Amino acid sequence: MRTKLVFAQLPLVAALAITILVGSHVTRALGRGSQDILKDNYRSVLAAQNMKEAAERIDSGVMFAIAGRPDAGGAQIDANVPKLEHELAAQEGNITETGELEATQHLRAAWTTYQSEIARVRRALAAPDLRVRYFAELLPKFLAVKEAADAILAMNQDAMMRKSDSAQRLAEESNTLLVGLSVLGLVLALVASSIMTTRVLRPLSVVGLTARRLGEGDLAVRAKVPGNDELADLARELNTMADHLQRYRQSSLGELLEAQLAAQATIDSLPDAVLVIALDGELRHANQAAETLLKVRTEAGSGALATLEPSVRAVIERLRQHVTGGHGAYVPKGLEEAIKVATSDGERALLPRAAPLYAEEGDVVATTIVLQDVTRLRRFEELRNDLVATVAHEFRTPLTSLRMAVHLLSEETVGPLTRKQADLVFAAREECDRLQSIVDELLDLSRIQADRIELRTSVLDPEQVINTAVEAHAAEAESRHATLRAEVLPGMPAILADRERIQLVLGNLIVNAIKYGPDGGTITVRAAQREGFLRIEVADQGPGIPAGYRQAVFDKYVRVPGAPKGGAGIGLYIAREIVGAHGGEIGVDSEPGKGSTFWFTVELAPASA
Ligand code: ADP
Repeated sequence: MRTKLVFAQLPLVAALAITILVGSHVTRALGRGSQDILKDNYRSVLAAQNMKEAAERIDSGVMFAIAGRPDAGGAQIDANVPKLEHELAAQEGNITETGELEATQHLRAAWTTYQSEIARVRRALAAPDLRVRYFAELLPKFLAVKEAADAILAMNQDAMMRKSDSAQRLAEESNTLLVGLSVLGLVLALVASSIMTTRVLRPLSVVGLTARRLGEGDLAVRAKVPGNDELADLARELNTMADHLQRYRQSSLGELLEAQLAAQATIDSLPDAVLVIALDGELRHANQAAETLLKVRTEAGSGALATLEPSVRAVIERLRQHVTGGHGAYVPKGLEEAIKVATSDGERALLPRAAPLYAEEGDVVATTIVLQDVTRLRRFEELRNDLVATVAHEFRTPLTSLRMAVHLLSEETVGPLTRKQADLVFAAREECDRLQSIVDELLDLSRIQADRIELRTSVLDPEQVINTAVEAHAAEAESRHATLRAEVLPGMPAILADRERIQLVLGNLIVNAIKYGPDGGTITVRAAQREGFLRIEVADQGPGIPAGYRQAVFDKYVRVPGAPKGGAGIGLYIAREIVGAHGGEIGVDSEPGKGSTFWFTVELAPASA
């Protein structure tokens, strides 16, 4: 991978190297040009100028000699002849231009002539026509030397100008060439580098794309990257991971499917109707029993529940709101909550219960509603109620006669009794009374069940209700040497209740307190105002109610194991039904061994509230 990336940069490096080479070549060529100028022409220009100067000095030396200063003139001539000779020799050794050789030879010839003319003049310094000879012979020779030197000077200066121009041109051309070459090289190198880099990096985008598709859930996708470099390794690892994921998904999907089918089959095989309702109120699932009994279909979609009978729909909606409202599972209180549904097999009684369905995070995501078919149970219940009602009814008349007879006997109205007979008759009288109270309770129960408690409410004074109840049971308390007292603050707000029924509830609680409390114990009846209702309680010093029975004692025929004989277990049930019909609540606070406090609540009369 690293090698490939380095190779991808090679075109750029090559372009840079070529630019450097061309640049250095051009610079060297320019340097050579100026060096050539210096070497070829500058030396000749210098020599020509020096020769001209030496010739002029020699000429002025001659003038000196002619003017009568032969010593100074001679010395000047002697000093400058070698100088000129030296420069001329240098020029002869630096012939570089065309025509320069001829010009130099011409100078040499002019100089030789001038030199011999000077020698002649110096030998004849005393001659009278010396001045004439100077102008006629010597001056032209001097001028010839000077002109010849000038020619060489001009020739070399021209050459210098020419060469300088051409160097300038070369520099400009080179500059253009260099810039052009650099730009071209860089563009080509960039294109080549980017093509090569793209090719090197293409596998990386293949791997990236594959990873993205995998992340989106397409586990069948694989990265195809040939070769042996790091990216090919990465692609292979990615493919292996995708293989594992795919296998895992296939296996977990299969297991999930199996588990779901098993759960579905289990729910479908239940005889009870099961409905799963989502938070939005839409039916998510209905088992076969639900489809048969309620004629709903999950496939019907959002309108599935709308096809239900309004009464069934209302109950289902109430349960769903109970569960989604965060109150947990809904357990029915009794068979009387069963709803009646008409089916092809006749009317069925379905007892609804509901439970929340939790998501993994613990949130409620749906409500499961089970409608248990309790038709047979209901029928049994009805039969039992009928039987109880009939028996109680049928017992009443003979029992009244029996009690009357036992009373007359125990009062010795029909004759005196021996002590033993009196004891037996007294026991029989007590049992008759107990039987009477059971029969009364059973009759109350059947009446309550028959007319489902129709209340005749009126505004009542709680103090009066309590006092009446206390007075009514004073004798019973007395027989157990118990103290029965009412602790009611005066000015309690009025309540709205059915006098007879509320009296019955309070009476039942007081009777129980006397019955299950100890001999000589204290029973206190209190009333306290709460927000919008009145709470009436009956506290005793009896054995208390074990925690597991505090709810159950209010159910029908439930008695705490070990409780003294003498009841049918329906007094508290009747009390709960009556309080419930009033819209109140009933309960017990108790600690085993420390007595119980049974309480119930009644609505305040509107003015009091
Ligand atoms: P019963 O006719 O048996 O009294 P109830 O419905 O009135 O029927 O009471 C149900 C059961 O609750 C009783 O059998 C008894 O075990 C228990 N119980 C009721 N009241 C008291 C109480 N004050 N103290 C202790 N146990 C009580």
